[in-house]
Amino acid sequence: MFVAFTLARAQLLTPEIEIEGWWTSLDVAMADVIELYKHHGTHEQFHSEIKTDLDLERLPSGKFDTNDAVVHLAAFTSDNGSYGNSLPSGMSAVPFDGYVGPGSEIYGLPLVGPIPHWGDTYDKPLLGCVFQDPHYRSHTGADFPVNEGTPIHTTIAGKVVWAGSNGPWGNLVVVENNGYQVWLAHLSSVQVVEGQILNYGDVVGSSGNTGNSTGAHLHYGIHQKTGEQSAVWLNPQSFFSADEYIYIGCSD
Ligand SMILES: [Zn+2]
Repeated sequence: MFVAFTLARAQLLTPEIEIEGWWTSLDVAMADVIELYKHHGTHEQFHSEIKTDLDLERLPSGKFDTNDAVVHLAAFTSDNGSYGNSLPSGMSAVPFDGYVGPGSEIYGLPLVGPIPHWGDTYDKPLLGCVFQDPHYRSHTGADFPVNEGTPIHTTIAGKVVWAGSNGPWGNLVVVENNGYQVWLAHLSSVQVVEGQILNYGDVVGSSGNTGNSTGAHLHYGIHQKTGEQSAVWLNPQSFFSADEYIYIGCSD
């Protein structure tokens, strides 16, 4: 069979004005829609940290059963910071240096108000996914959603044992003293160097969205040496009090 096509001559027009808009079928108040949108951002971050812990490049889009399996796997992979017997690709271990100096007590928070987030300003840091969050059992620290570029302070005096890029952690600063390491991850910039001795509260860099992170936040971890080759992650919430933050939750 022979088919002939006739192409009409058409002119491509470039629009002078582009309109971006959203619509929703949700029968709720505008403020609630915005709130849900924020939770979506937190959920994106939740996914990204699962990818960090399980060393996944990406989660399959649209394959809900597979995603569900991955999320359950993450929930059952109770990670004490060892990452099994191997480190995810691109990640370097941060061995304990053995530094012992004054001011090894850990207290307070790495963020000091006012805290900018989502166009609002808060007098206290916002706490998102907590240590071993029910939504995210393998989580090794506490997450504080915060705009990029916010100063990050060390919660321990001590020696900088890591300052720079570290795979899925993004730009990472680790400060050590007396068998404890304070981890500050996903930074946009690092303002200290390895070997530097810090006082409590010194700024180590700025918050960011580097590494396996799809929403600006600070990951705050506390690693304790327990033996020659062993260490455990501690719950950072043991080192600050409930009136020092605003809990916004992880994700549903
Ligand atoms: Zn985290």
